[in-house]
Amino acid sequence: MLAEGDAGTGIEGDARPVQPVLAVVGRPNVGKSTLVNRILGRREAVVQDVSGVTRDRVAYDALWNGRRFTLLDTGGWEPGAKGMQAAISAQAETAMATADVIMLVVDGQVGATAVDEAVARTLRRADRPVILAATKVDDQRGENELSALWRLGLGEPHPVSGLHGRGSGDLLDLVIDAMPDSPRDDVDLEGGPRRVALVGKPNVGKSSLLNQLTGESRSVVDATAGTTTDPVDSVVEIDGETWKIVDTAGLRRKVGQASGTEYYASLRTKAAIEAAEVTVLLLDASEPISEQDLRVASQVADAGRALVLAMNKWDLVDEDRRHAMVRELERALVRFPWVERVNISARTGRAVQKLAPAMRTALENWDRRVPTGQLNQWLADVVAATPPPVRGGKQPKILYATQAQNRPPTFVLFTSGFLEAGYRRFLERKLRETFPLTGTPVQINVRVRE
Ligand code: GDP
Ligand code: GDP
Repeated sequence: MLAEGDAGTGIEGDARPVQPVLAVVGRPNVGKSTLVNRILGRREAVVQDVSGVTRDRVAYDALWNGRRFTLLDTGGWEPGAKGMQAAISAQAETAMATADVIMLVVDGQVGATAVDEAVARTLRRADRPVILAATKVDDQRGENELSALWRLGLGEPHPVSGLHGRGSGDLLDLVIDAMPDSPRDDVDLEGGPRRVALVGKPNVGKSSLLNQLTGESRSVVDATAGTTTDPVDSVVEIDGETWKIVDTAGLRRKVGQASGTEYYASLRTKAAIEAAEVTVLLLDASEPISEQDLRVASQVADAGRALVLAMNKWDLVDEDRRHAMVRELERALVRFPWVERVNISARTGRAVQKLAPAMRTALENWDRRVPTGQLNQWLADVVAATPPPVRGGKQPKILYATQAQNRPPTFVLFTSGFLEAGYRRFLERKLRETFPLTGTPVQINVRVRE
């Protein structure tokens, strides 16, 4: 990961932990592809043979010892480059700009050539770890030939055979050790039912919906925090699935309303949103959509939680109101075009079951991981059709993208220049057209190396 304080590194938006990047650099024919295939495992290399943003860069998902990282194969040729020297310098520059760890691959049977020496000279300036791999060392005998590689000034040469796999595990251990802490695979430690918040203005019908869901006559299973008399969360069944409605004590006792202070009500809302994975925002369908409603929707998106919109009191909606609402929704939802809407009546129970499929979809997309190969294929297509606008006479290049996180999906674009907010919004729109992301906010961060 590029350190936040790096000179020349611009980070926009919330900097979340990014899956670390290993860049593989080296002359043609030294055995890079064979080694990359070895690292990825043959199966993945075959199915994920997807070209990157430009033809010379391909990003893959890699996994070693439970650590995920992105493998950037800078192997090809710069389309406009003059010769091998220029091509490899460009590779090295890309690697130094965007990778956390760089691996220079040299041919252990041939030894260091003048081109290897030139690229090593460039890489010695790198402010991040560089690992020197000597490939085609298929046996012990080959290892004895490696001492000459020390003069590249990149430390100890590490022998490996991409073809036979010899030494590749040790090499990967070194790579992982050199990386900043990568996020472990997300596991929901809490487990159990998925957590839902019911929020909305006073009198919109939150308690009625909770009662409808728990079933007033049925015995209610309450998850307790602290005491048995003050249940905080309620476990309910909707559409055959168990859900946990968080922070329902306030809904039962109407804390915010009784005390009459909007301040406490809003704190309560914030706490509920943060405790939940998906928020159901209730609106009163019989009334105009208010700024306050939209503020809560923004709060959910900013908190990075999935969102479902429930238009409650649908039983009060007549023809006229329905027409007015269509226009209001159009205007109100420009900021949240990705939200799914369900029309319900908490009083009559109408369509309350429909909440579950909408929550399920939102959470599925909130959990989504887009494979790096697919993401970069998409990016290549979009950027080819609509390149980023020129700024200050320069066309920013988007080098590649990775998904740093899910819950919510968070993407990082590695670029050679600033991307305007308008273009980032365009990319988000395009992303949503290609990958199912209904019901979840997404975040697109840009890492610039000027
Ligand atoms: P790249 O151009 O750097 O990607 O190199 P390749 O991976 O395509 O390899 C170039 C040639 O070297 C191919 O003929 C490979 O079979 C051979 N080669 C690659 N790795 C090894 C290795 O570990 N041992 C041996 N003996 N040959 C290798
Ligand atoms: P809360 O403050 O958000 O918890 O709202 P309540 O659940 O206490 O509901 C406020 C008022 O709206 C009560 O009088 C409810 O009976 C009424 N209400 C709730 N849901 C509906 C609905 O779907 N249709 C109609 N007509 N009234 C509703």
